[in-house]
Amino acid sequence: MCKMLSVVVSVYNEEQALPMFYKAARSVLESLDWDYELLFVNDGSQDGSMAYLRRLSREDPRVKVLGFSRNFGHEAAMIAGIDHAAGDAMVCMDADLQHPPECLVEIVKKLEEGCGVISMVRTKNPSAGLIKNITSSGFYALINTLSDVKFEPNASDFFAVSRQAADVLRENYRERVRFLRGYVQSIGFQKAVITYEAGDRVAGESKYSIRKLLAFSVNTIMCFSNLPLKLGIYAGILAALMGVAVMVYTLLTRQGAPSGYTTIVILNCFMFAILFIIVGIIGEYIAVLFSELKDRPIYIVEEKRNL
Ligand code: UDP
Ligand code: MG
Repeated sequence: MCKMLSVVVSVYNEEQALPMFYKAARSVLESLDWDYELLFVNDGSQDGSMAYLRRLSREDPRVKVLGFSRNFGHEAAMIAGIDHAAGDAMVCMDADLQHPPECLVEIVKKLEEGCGVISMVRTKNPSAGLIKNITSSGFYALINTLSDVKFEPNASDFFAVSRQAADVLRENYRERVRFLRGYVQSIGFQKAVITYEAGDRVAGESKYSIRKLLAFSVNTIMCFSNLPLKLGIYAGILAALMGVAVMVYTLLTRQGAPSGYTTIVILNCFMFAILFIIVGIIGEYIAVLFSELKDRPIYIVEEKRNL
């Protein structure tokens, strides 16, 4: 019996890109030895994406559709796709054709060789622009310093996992604050890396703003590192050393009590700054704890087609 590949596609306001994506993906998928399903996850689009997907699912039984009740974000869409996919392996990709469907050929080859986790690394991302590219490399440098898990820089939301690896994600990585790409790279299994060139998005605009990306980066650091929580200890040691230095200086120079006003003000400001930053960091972690504790659903499905 031939194996089945599930292609999970997250969709948010992609009505223009979808027909092009479907055509391109289908022609590649038809050429493979594997059976396939195309699982579109509509992440609360406000445009005609859902209407198009409903129509498509009536014409093509291999097209499966999950419709969320509102926008839950790209990560939630990928998780929902992995939860509902029936294949022996799953690939997550974007609907804007920035993840070329031609890569599926190579992915299937790696899967047949027994790889459990295949990361797709982009060699170039023209549409991202200089700022996004620089902040992206900065982010990976930071997270790799702070965390025990080593991340593939430029790993994208384009990846493939075997059924076995997907089961691990399904059952054990249900965090509310999360970074799916990171989990994929930290669960082990035989790994493979394939490089690809990200083209321009075929239609529409990027749905990730700099602000969204920043929030995402902060969350990721908190998901994978406890080091920021230890800053308090380091700051305390620093403050103690400074105190000793000032004490020694005062004793040696035999300053009278009234002088040294500037020193006091500067030290005060400095100490309070450190203190508030640390309180802020602890607050961020508490916010993560709080949202895990509330245990709200990662996504809510309103509509299912062919599933
Ligand atoms: N997307 C989503 N929910 C969102 C934002 C984006 O499902 O809230 C989908 C979007 O439709 C696309 C993919 O995630 O298929 C990647 O988004 P985008 O291309 O805007 O990001 P970029 O490639 O610019 O990083
Ligand atoms: Mg894109």
